[in-house]
Amino acid sequence: MIQEIKEIRRVKIDKSSILFKLWKSFVFFAGLILISIWLFQTVFLSSFYETMKIREVTKVGNELRNDYKSQDFETKLSNYANTKGLEIKVLDEKGAWVFPLRLFDEFVERPRMIWENFDKFFGSLKRDNRIYKIYTVRYENLKDPSIIYAGYLGNTDGEDYYLYINSVLKPVDATVDVIRRMLLIISFLALIFASITAYFVSRRLSRPLVRMSNTAKELAKGDYKVQFRKGEYTEIDDLSNTLNYAKNELTKTIEMRKDLVANVSHDLKTPLTVIKSYGEMIRDISGSNEKLRNKHLETIISEADNLTDLVNDLLDLSKIESNLEEIRKEEFDLEDSLNEVLNRFKINKNYSDYKFEIDSSGDTRILGDRSKINQVIYNLINNAINYSPVNKNIKILIKGNERETEFHCIDKGIGIKEEDIKGIWDRFYRVRNNHTRPEIGTGLGLYIVKTIMDLHGFKYGVHSKINEGSDFYFIANK
Ligand code: ADP
Repeated sequence: MIQEIKEIRRVKIDKSSILFKLWKSFVFFAGLILISIWLFQTVFLSSFYETMKIREVTKVGNELRNDYKSQDFETKLSNYANTKGLEIKVLDEKGAWVFPLRLFDEFVERPRMIWENFDKFFGSLKRDNRIYKIYTVRYENLKDPSIIYAGYLGNTDGEDYYLYINSVLKPVDATVDVIRRMLLIISFLALIFASITAYFVSRRLSRPLVRMSNTAKELAKGDYKVQFRKGEYTEIDDLSNTLNYAKNELTKTIEMRKDLVANVSHDLKTPLTVIKSYGEMIRDISGSNEKLRNKHLETIISEADNLTDLVNDLLDLSKIESNLEEIRKEEFDLEDSLNEVLNRFKINKNYSDYKFEIDSSGDTRILGDRSKINQVIYNLINNAINYSPVNKNIKILIKGNERETEFHCIDKGIGIKEEDIKGIWDRFYRVRNNHTRPEIGTGLGLYIVKTIMDLHGFKYGVHSKINEGSDFYFIANK
């Protein structure tokens, strides 16, 4: 029963889907255009038509008035009357028709305009000191209103002549009716077209998104081989690039984490095995032999140190990763920091055969988080020691000016291959098969350095050549 309800629900329109939203916009847009057309033709068409007519009649009237004295005035007059369907007359000052004349008009008395009308149209011109006037009138014998142009032509042989143009405003109702019907059909078609277009456009739009969401589901299930496919749009391409990038980073981290677990387990197991077996040896063999016992105890202590280093690295990493600590900047001397760190190495007998050369010049003060910078120095020197099994001379260069201080840790150790340099700053990354002391190193040291440098905004890097040595450096601001 519940299953059925779910099925029915799924058929319901999803109001936040691309399809629905696009359809809404299309219909809204089509609707807006249709409403404007409806409004225009029902409300404005009549008045628009009248204005057009007035403009046309005025134009013809004014042109004719200008041409009054020209030779072909009468031809023009009849031309206009024919082509534009206008009633055009020329009247004298008594209201009698002068043009057009019909033959018999010469013999009988010429027709005239009712004086009342003549006075209303033309008499008022003089009174109001105007050259022409436009009227909209409704003649009793005509159904439709007319537009009248009444203009003064000029004076010939002491008599004034006037121009009368009449244009009947034919009703637009019939046209409007046709347009209205057409609009009804158009509205209906527009709605159908909008729906069809919305359907196809939205399908095209959402297809790559649906595909991506399916791929993401696969990824969530743990299939890291999936690829986000590119789609038909730039935005989709960008999105799939970003997702692929995120996926690659995720995969890298997961791979590295796997490596770390393997490494850490190994790194934990080896010293623990050594500690256990040396403990047993002390219990069973060297317990009463002081010299041998001390030698065994030394090994136990050194292995315990290795374990401590490993745990410390892991702690540093988890602290940095969870961003628990913030940078607390203070001004301090980098050379002092170096000495503090070196002392930690010097008291450890394992490093007694390493020689540290310090070359410090200029103003070596910097502005940074002292304990974090100490850690950076520690990690760099620690690496220099770990990866310099033969030539045990390590040079530390500190060079300051008024803006920044450079720190270099230069060793003559095994160096790094060019293709490996890019990866060494990643977390858990270890150049394979070159560990001189495989029990040391978690692949975290340089990642911690990188994170601290980035937090400070300091520049850092490495110059290294395989079998020649490395120069790890950073440039701290004041
Ligand atoms: P690890 O704990 O393995 O030393 P790091 O992050 O400190 O991890 O270093 C990453 C890798 O970079 C190391 O495994 C090593 O191969 C390489 N590396 C770091 N420092 C040096 C160096 N001074 N000389 C040669 N290789 C180095």
